[in-house]
Amino acid sequence: MCYGGHQFGSWAGQLGDGRAINLFETKVHDQRWALQLKGAGLTPYSRTADGLAVLRSSVREYLCSEAMYFLGVPTTRALSLMLTGDEVLRDMMYDGNAAYEKGAVVCRVAPSFIRFGNFQILAARGETENLKKLTDYTLRYFYTDLGTPSKETYIAFFKEIVKRTMEMIVHWQRIGFVHGVMNTDNMSILGLTIDYGPYGWLENYDPGWTPNTTDAQGKRYRFGNQPGIAAWNLFQLANALYPLIGEAAPLEEIINGIQEDYEKSYLDMMKEKLGLIHRFETEKLLVASLEDILYASETDMTMFFRLLSGFDPKDKAGFLHKWNDSSYAVAFEKHIPAINEWLDNYSALLQAHPDPERKKKMDTVNPKYVLRNYMAQIAIDAADKGDYSFIEEFYLMLQKPYDEQPEYERWFAKRPDWAVNKVGCSMLSCSS
Ligand code: AMP
Ligand code: MG
Repeated sequence: MCYGGHQFGSWAGQLGDGRAINLFETKVHDQRWALQLKGAGLTPYSRTADGLAVLRSSVREYLCSEAMYFLGVPTTRALSLMLTGDEVLRDMMYDGNAAYEKGAVVCRVAPSFIRFGNFQILAARGETENLKKLTDYTLRYFYTDLGTPSKETYIAFFKEIVKRTMEMIVHWQRIGFVHGVMNTDNMSILGLTIDYGPYGWLENYDPGWTPNTTDAQGKRYRFGNQPGIAAWNLFQLANALYPLIGEAAPLEEIINGIQEDYEKSYLDMMKEKLGLIHRFETEKLLVASLEDILYASETDMTMFFRLLSGFDPKDKAGFLHKWNDSSYAVAFEKHIPAINEWLDNYSALLQAHPDPERKKKMDTVNPKYVLRNYMAQIAIDAADKGDYSFIEEFYLMLQKPYDEQPEYERWFAKRPDWAVNKVGCSMLSCSS
C-alpha cells in the first residue's frame, strides 16, 4: 500500500509499505481479515531499504501484538513467526556498527491495515476522486453502520475514528504501553494499535519516558504525550478528509472536543484502576497526586496497581512494605510522608463506599503480566541461539494477563539491574 505521513511532526511525503506485503483478504463469520507478511522482501515502496525484517523485531511484534489483544487493547494480531534462513545486515543503533542478524517474517492479521497516511497521500496530491474512493471503500467495509457516503457520513466517519483512536489511547495509558513512533503512517484508520517497532512498557512510572532512542532529543512520543499526539494526528487526518467535506467547522468542533472527552475517559479509567466507582469531589486531585507520587518514588506501574487491589485500609504498614519493594528509588524513605497522606485519603474513600467486589474488579483492569522490556529481550537472545522456550512461555502467559498464574510468578517482578542500560531493554531504535 502506498501512503504518506507526518513523521516526528513534519510532513514526510510519500512512504508506503516498505516491508509489508498484502497476501489476501478472507471472510470468517462475516468478519474480514487481511493477511500481511512483514519482512518478506522488496516492495514497490521499499525505497533504499531491503524490505526484510530481523528476528529481533519480529519476535517483538509477534509477542506484543498478541499480548495487547489479550489485554483487551484494540490491535492488529500475529498469526505466525518464522525464520527465513537468510542473514540480514542491520546497524541496530545507527552508530556505524552493522552486523548480520537472522531474518524472520511475521504474518500479521487485521480487518484492514489502512492508515491515516493512506488518506493523507491522496489529499496531498490533490487526488480527490481517489480520496473519495478510498473513503467510500473504508466506509462500506469497515464502518458499515454509518450509512451511504455523503457529507454527513464523512463527518460521522471522522467522529468515529476520533472515538476509536482515543479509546485505544486510554487503553495504552491504562497498561503503561508506549508506542514509540506515533507517526501518522502508523495510525490505523480502525483505531488499532499498529506497527510494533521501538515500543516499550513503563517500568518506573514516568510520563516523560520513551524507549525510542531516535526520539531521545524531543521525546515527542513519550508516555505522557500520547493523548496529545493522537489528537494532533487526528487533526492531520481531518485536513486530509477536508476536500470531501468542504467545510471546516464540523471537523473543528469534533477536534475541539477531543481533549475534554479524553480527560473524562482517562479519569474514569484511572478510577477503575483504583477500584473507585462512585463520584467524589476530589477525584481529579487524588489521581493527579498519585501520579506525582508514583513518578517521584520511581514505582513500578504494573506492580503497584496490581498490588493495590490487595490493599487493606487496616494494614497500611503492610502495604507500605510492598510499595517499597516495587520502587526503584534509592531513597524511598523520603517519599513516605506523601505516600502516607495519599493512602489515608484513599482509605477514607474505600471505607466510605465499601465494595466487596473491589479486588476482583481491579484485577480485571490492572494486569499482572505484561511484556516487560527485558522479557522481550530475553526471548530474543534465546531465540537467536535457537532456543524458543521463552517465546512459548511468554506467549502462553500473556494470554491470561489478568490471571494470577502462580507458575509465572517470577515475571511479576521489577526490572532487574542488568536491564537498566542494556540495548533492547530500555533503548530501542526504529531499526527493522
Ligand atoms: P516505521 O517507522 O517502522 O513504520 O517505518 C517507516 C517506513 O519505513 C515504513 O514505510 C516502512 O515500511 C519502511 N521500512 C522500515 N523498515 C524497512 C525495510 N527493512 N525495508 C523497507 N522499508 C522499510
Ligand atoms: Mg510503519
